Amino acid sequence: MLRARVRRALNVLPSLGLRYRCPFCHLRFRRLEPRGRDLPVYAELGVIGGGLREAECPWCRSNDRERLLYLFLRRHTDLFRRPRRLLHFAPEARLRRAIARSGQAEYVTTDLSMPGVDVNMDITAIPRPDAAFDAIICSHVLEHVRDDRAAMRELHRVLAPDGWAVLQVPIASLADRTDEEGPDAPLQPEERARRFGDPSHVRLYAEGDYVRRLEEAGFAVRAADALDLLGAKSVEQYGLHSGEKVFLCTRA
Ligand SMILES: [Zn+2]
Repeated sequence: MLRARVRRALNVLPSLGLRYRCPFCHLRFRRLEPRGRDLPVYAELGVIGGGLREAECPWCRSNDRERLLYLFLRRHTDLFRRPRRLLHFAPEARLRRAIARSGQAEYVTTDLSMPGVDVNMDITAIPRPDAAFDAIICSHVLEHVRDDRAAMRELHRVLAPDGWAVLQVPIASLADRTDEEGPDAPLQPEERARRFGDPSHVRLYAEGDYVRRLEEAGFAVRAADALDLLGAKSVEQYGLHSGEKVFLCTRA
């Protein structure tokens, strides 16, 4: 155990430096590590929020998406100042620890099948009453869900009238329309990887269409990118994608 930790520390030494900092482990690095799949669709359609990129913290393994979420929640919401009832889908490990430490009124972690969460639930049939949560975090889940409209309606239903939800998906920034699997025509994993960037994704959203679907479910959506939300210095320091947007949804 100790030997493994020493080896890990030695491995990270060559990456230490001043260029990047990680908001979770607070270490500083001269480089981040590659992360993501190297598939042509990412470049062809300008997919933001996926693909092979230098994005992973060499020490705690946070990635750019998780760091953006954390910094956004700290700077643009009162999540870490005021206890709330929070529902967190597919919880990112480091973000989960930070939230758990912050003393929420209720903190429910969930996923359809991920082990180690508080409760396994189907996002298209959330077993909770209306308005049960003040806040919802759901990042990179909806692109896996066949009936994403039903999921969006459920998220809207369980959100309190003055609550908010941060709902993130990979966005094909160069695509005009969402590409997705037909309800009666499931695709082979290789075909999904080729078209959507991952064998377990059932679609690849275009931004306008994603926002429209959220609005149809009853949400008002505010979308802003990392550069606007956090500024150029933070984007560079924290190793973020400047164009990655945060979709903040409230009940319209
Ligand atoms: Zn880190």
